[in-house]
Amino acid sequence: MRGDLLARTTNADTARRAQELFTANGVRPTLATVLVGDDPASATYVRMKERRSAQLGLDTRHVELARETTTAELVDVLNALSGDPEVHGILLQHPVGQHIDERAAFDAITPTKDVDGVTSASFSAMAFGEAGFESCTPAGILRLLDHYEVNPSGSHAVVVGRSPILGKPMAALLLQRDATVTVCHSKTRDLARHVAAADIVIAAVGRPELIRGEWIAHGAVVIDAGYNPGNVGDVDFVGASRHAAMITPVPGGVGPMTIAVLLAQTVDAAERATHPR
Ligand code: NAP
Repeated sequence: MRGDLLARTTNADTARRAQELFTANGVRPTLATVLVGDDPASATYVRMKERRSAQLGLDTRHVELARETTTAELVDVLNALSGDPEVHGILLQHPVGQHIDERAAFDAITPTKDVDGVTSASFSAMAFGEAGFESCTPAGILRLLDHYEVNPSGSHAVVVGRSPILGKPMAALLLQRDATVTVCHSKTRDLARHVAAADIVIAAVGRPELIRGEWIAHGAVVIDAGYNPGNVGDVDFVGASRHAAMITPVPGGVGPMTIAVLLAQTVDAAERATHPR
């Protein structure tokens, strides 16, 4: 399941909409990226998002904060961006560091600019099937499933991982789509047995090749959201490919879709700010 190819189509649509908004209203969709500290991986992710924004005709505003920034200082920055009419979307790159209250920081982002889908308000809207921005990685995964005509309705989906930005919203979105959802985590006993019972496996752990190929049921669909050093996913790709009907590669699977959804939602936010309903 080639997320890189689907992302190209999504990105082309995003670029077209960004240009239309600029031509008709003089508005350039603008994404503010906030980076706390100097973690090289986080800095790379932010740069990738900024580069792709520029390619699609979106502006970015980069805010870089020292590692020792306090929760209160970060909340102030996010409040200011939330109130800035020239900013349409806000991305707080995470993780933000142990000493910061990440939930308080996320929730300082106004829901109308929460294009990464990380606030409690966005999560609640998503879980209740109401309008709002979706968590980017799970939303990108759903777009992949839709594109490859995998209908979650009635199927057994097993999500491995329960983080607030990936596993939990993924489970909520699959439930909205009428899947029967099992969520596994670090305390789950006999992970192999749960995975073997899945029609759809979503790996969202951050442990290289934790999901073994022989666990995958014949004909299952496998989505590997994991991204570990050395371009290794959470699934043993070679082994799983022997059983799976479809599988995402790493890289070129979930990653490009995450950024594509982020930028599509930034243009959504800019459109809504320009033409309030
Ligand atoms: P996270 O916050 O560290 O959460 C990891 C989850 O995995 C936790 O729920 C944890 O359980 C569970 N877990 C850990 N060890 C386990 C085990 N042995 N068996 C079963 N479950 C286990 O990570 P995350 O932010 O969700 O990210 C997960 C992976 O996705 C990482 O590789 C990350 O790089 C990748 N990711 C990719 C994208 C993308 O765009 N492609 C975006 C975001 C994240 P507990 O809750 O019990 O601790």
